[in-house]
Amino acid sequence: MPAWMPVYYGEDALEIVSGSGRHVTDAEGRTYLDFFGGVLTTMVGYDIAEISDAVRAQIDTGVAHTSTLYLIRQQVELAEKIARLSGIPDARVFFTNSGTEANESALLFATNARRSNQILAVKNGYHGRTFATMAVTGHRSWSSSSLSPLTVHWLASADRLRGRMAGMSGDDLVEAAVDDLREVLATVSAGDVAGMIAEPVQGVGGFVSGPDGLLGAYRKVLAEHGILLIADEVQTGWGRTGDHFWGHQAHGVTPDLITFAKGIGNGFALGGVVGRAEIMNAVPAISFSTFGGNPVSAAAGNAVLDYVLSHDLQGNAKRVGSILLNGLQPLLGYGILADVRGRGLMIGLEFVRTGTTEPDPAVTARVFDLCRANGLLVGKGGLYGNVIRIGPPLTLTEDEARTGLAVLTEAIATADAESRVG
Ligand code: PMP
Repeated sequence: MPAWMPVYYGEDALEIVSGSGRHVTDAEGRTYLDFFGGVLTTMVGYDIAEISDAVRAQIDTGVAHTSTLYLIRQQVELAEKIARLSGIPDARVFFTNSGTEANESALLFATNARRSNQILAVKNGYHGRTFATMAVTGHRSWSSSSLSPLTVHWLASADRLRGRMAGMSGDDLVEAAVDDLREVLATVSAGDVAGMIAEPVQGVGGFVSGPDGLLGAYRKVLAEHGILLIADEVQTGWGRTGDHFWGHQAHGVTPDLITFAKGIGNGFALGGVVGRAEIMNAVPAISFSTFGGNPVSAAAGNAVLDYVLSHDLQGNAKRVGSILLNGLQPLLGYGILADVRGRGLMIGLEFVRTGTTEPDPAVTARVFDLCRANGLLVGKGGLYGNVIRIGPPLTLTEDEARTGLAVLTEAIATADAESRVG
């Protein structure tokens, strides 16, 4: 494996060999409660009969692959469901194998439709690892090349601890963000920007998000110029944020293109774009993905989506997420914890050196390790590696939430005490 591919827990790397519900077991037989789901991807949980059975049934047909040169019933059915759920009239859906490919495709569609390679992107965002998606990724740790097929213009992130928006909230932040957009359009752009890409909640960036309505406020300005809006829902889609099915719905907008991946396959490789027909159809040559939406991943996708809807996992994310959020808020009394933020089952904890806004990745790593030692898996992220990310399967129960909360509480108390001694 190449040196640039990170593994959690360093020398003490974890090998997950089996899973059930929200729990996984490692090669040594230790069981953990999983609050990260392989980066918000095991969205329903492990070993869910409805999903495993649907995939097995497809495998039992003997057909794992046909290519999209042949009709794939599962794919068409899934496309119709996603088109309906998108809220976009007369939508088209294109399936890929990953979030990167989904965003790469959306950028292809938008730049062709608008005959422009200028894209607006948001600092601290993450959109993938190919040249175009890396070019719109505003996160130094993940930007491994400056080569770009796009000309990218940057907007400030909604980070409330540092940077242009520090200390701002609500209407003040929205106003500053819109001023920033107008300034960028008036100064550095060449006047015919194709689209803007944004995550409703920045995932890799540490679950940073603007106030509700921010994307809607941007949208008014974009509309003055015919600039398309691409919502990257790779982490925020399918009800994870609790209040809404899509993250962008908190902003009162319907994007022109929505990209998705991760959770929709619950681990099977599935991503895609849903968008307005005239934009999706703007590609002027043949384009196709050999594996995208193949019979097995499409079978998984249908089973996942049916499960999410029939079990109201969005409602569960809201209910169980608020237990976590309410339980974590009081921990702000610890000096090392500067922010508890998020919605639904997407919660970030930001750590700093006590009494400052200086990021503390070491104390974050300590909390992260203590969680594992006490049987809880969480994620890490943020621009400075100082955010603990909580993104469990949306089937998380109230009891499991309380169990995880107790582990987190103890880990933060311990790390805080150690930081004062050391
Ligand atoms: N967009 C967002 C918001 C993501 O979080 C990710 C993955 N972390 C991607 C795109 C890229 O997805 P993938 O790793 O499946 O290519």
